[in-house]
Amino acid sequence: MTAPQIDETRALDHLMDLLAIEGLSGREGKVAAAVQEKLLAAGCEASWIGHDDANVRIPGNYEVGNLIVELPGTRPGPRRLFMGHMDTVPLCRGAVPVRLNGRIEAEGDTALGGDNRTSIGALVTMVETLLAQDVPRPPITVLMTVGEEVGLWGARTAELERLGNPEMGFNIDSGAPHVVIIGATGADRWQVDIHGRSSHAGVHPEHGVSAALIASRAVADVAARGFFGKIELPAGSGTSNVGRMAGGEASNQVTDHVFVSGESRSHDKAFLARITAAWRDAFEQAARSVTSSDGQCGRVDFRAETD
Ligand SMILES: [Zn+2]
Repeated sequence: MTAPQIDETRALDHLMDLLAIEGLSGREGKVAAAVQEKLLAAGCEASWIGHDDANVRIPGNYEVGNLIVELPGTRPGPRRLFMGHMDTVPLCRGAVPVRLNGRIEAEGDTALGGDNRTSIGALVTMVETLLAQDVPRPPITVLMTVGEEVGLWGARTAELERLGNPEMGFNIDSGAPHVVIIGATGADRWQVDIHGRSSHAGVHPEHGVSAALIASRAVADVAARGFFGKIELPAGSGTSNVGRMAGGEASNQVTDHVFVSGESRSHDKAFLARITAAWRDAFEQAARSVTSSDGQCGRVDFRAETD
């Protein structure tokens, strides 16, 4: 049997079409419609294509659920799953893809949305190639999820049975095309509200408890202990990041509230918990370390959720 030949011109056309469609998290309807149209043109039967009801189960008003395509096999064998996500990050709003000097770029200041439309384009091309060249295959499920960028919502709510109980899955969402990752990086997303006490910064700063100082000390402490950014410690490896810090109102006011959100990642579940614990401890210790002249200290409310 000869290997299937991929029509690169068509593959690029699919990708350019899909990159031009706006589809932020929760707003994947137009992407799904375009994919559906392409798949029908490629020879899929309408009955093979459908949506699950993830949109009903995900918080927020999602336009559509996950798009699921079930290709019947031409030979027996365990069902394979191929998947990617339809949504792109907010930076891709209004993106216009252009081809320039052998590259595809976004015109203007937006991001392009290659994450993850390259996957959606590749999956469309895969189905088209399989059908056009009648490539022998076991049953295949293609899953295109919604809400990935805001917490893997589509994948989290997808049901194996609705996917035909595949025995093996390939998720196309990464960097280099020749790299296969056979383990998932677990991530904790955490948020902390730091409560200090306000006072006039020019008259009686000592009466206040600065939430800004607490936040700064906590971040510096985590970094000093080796748990910030790329983490390579004898006990394990991973990453962590502060994604957002916000708070305060005026320069003459001791900051009484700062919000910080961030994440921890590691392949090792136990070590992942240690990274997140390092953040929690650092915020709690820092809150105790900042006191006003009458002995009041700050307090923190730290929440973490594992993806
Ligand atoms: Zn992605």
